[in-house]
Amino acid sequence: MRLSERSKAIKPAVTLALAAKAQTMRAEGIDLVNFTAGEPDFDTPQRIKDAAVQALKRGMTKYTDVRGIIPLRQAIAEKYKREYGFDYHRDQVLVSCGGKHALYNLLQALLNPGDEVVIPSPYWVSYSDMTLLAGGVPRIVPTKEEDGFRLTPEQLATALTPKTRIFILNSPSNPTGAGYHREELEALSRVLEKHDCLIISDDIYEKIVYDNFHFYSIAALNPKLRERTLITNSASKTYAMTGWRIGYALGPQEIIAAAGNIQSQSTSNPTSIAQAGALEAIQGPQDEVEVMVREFQKRRDLIVERLSRIPGFRCFNPQGAFYVFPNVRSLLGRTGKGKKLGSAADVVEYFLAEARVLVVPGEDFGSSENIRFSYATSLEEIEKGCGRIEAAVKKLD
Ligand code: PMP
Ligand code: GLU
Repeated sequence: MRLSERSKAIKPAVTLALAAKAQTMRAEGIDLVNFTAGEPDFDTPQRIKDAAVQALKRGMTKYTDVRGIIPLRQAIAEKYKREYGFDYHRDQVLVSCGGKHALYNLLQALLNPGDEVVIPSPYWVSYSDMTLLAGGVPRIVPTKEEDGFRLTPEQLATALTPKTRIFILNSPSNPTGAGYHREELEALSRVLEKHDCLIISDDIYEKIVYDNFHFYSIAALNPKLRERTLITNSASKTYAMTGWRIGYALGPQEIIAAAGNIQSQSTSNPTSIAQAGALEAIQGPQDEVEVMVREFQKRRDLIVERLSRIPGFRCFNPQGAFYVFPNVRSLLGRTGKGKKLGSAADVVEYFLAEARVLVVPGEDFGSSENIRFSYATSLEEIEKGCGRIEAAVKKLD
């Protein structure tokens, strides 16, 4: 079959592929501990479900404005005014089918062949493939664990060239959970000030932060970057609404309009009643978010402590999101079930075979020494999974 070069340049998202594999194994009755899925295990709050049901009963079953219903775009603009002091008009907001779709539309609207996108690594799996799909060139810049998996201003200055069209910032990050502190963002912003590139700030984990970490928006810290910054966000993680597929982008009107045109010629509006749910999510009381974050924090504390005790694991303590990305380099070269572990993917395979624990290998996040655990699962499952991994590591030759 002759497929497009475009489609051949990319892989399926390993995150979704392994989450599906875990579901299938469980459906087959296998006692698997699943650390793959990057989605809250909590149910969507009732008030949000009710809003969608009411919308359905009212007959909100037609196409909506391609860009999203006015009240939702207005509510998003107001959230950004309230929380960050930004003055976005509702026409500077585009509601899409998830944060992923918002990013996709932006990259399609902005990149010409050969344009570079600077992506700090480890990075969320879709940034590079979405860049390729839009004809751009991913410029991956590895960060160091000693630097807290945060890009330094020097690294950023070296990575930005006249070919750079976009710099993607994701704090807290998937897969490391690393969050940038205020001074670090200010330092990066001073480098960005001198370069004529755009910034995409993927703020999907803005509310999922721990201890005293404070999330800052780079454009709020440095007004000189405001006209060049695009923000993407989503209802998925904050409100446990992954399946609803509502995300959004905010930014300069011309870019948002171009991204809206792409949406208009591809998906049209995101699902009408899901928009009604998202409106309630963003406008209503935010107490459930705090409850979920408190629970995530307990889980982070437990998983970091448990994994750090396992010989061969080095586990960075994240500031946010719900992932840990331990380094397992010390396990490479050892032998399990008769096979030498040569890569993170081999380590993952071994844990699946020996311990019935599934995690995501680091390769597609840009690291062959790390593996990703999503701790959006119960404390009991975390205990059970870490115990099994510990036992499996003891069996390695
Ligand atoms: N950005 C990051 C960093 C993510 O981890 C994800 C996936 N969970 C997304 C964007 C997209 O999420 P969604 O499409 O569900 O909004
Ligand atoms: N982003 C989540 C994850 O990293 C969901 C899967 C995806 O959208 O790639 O697991």
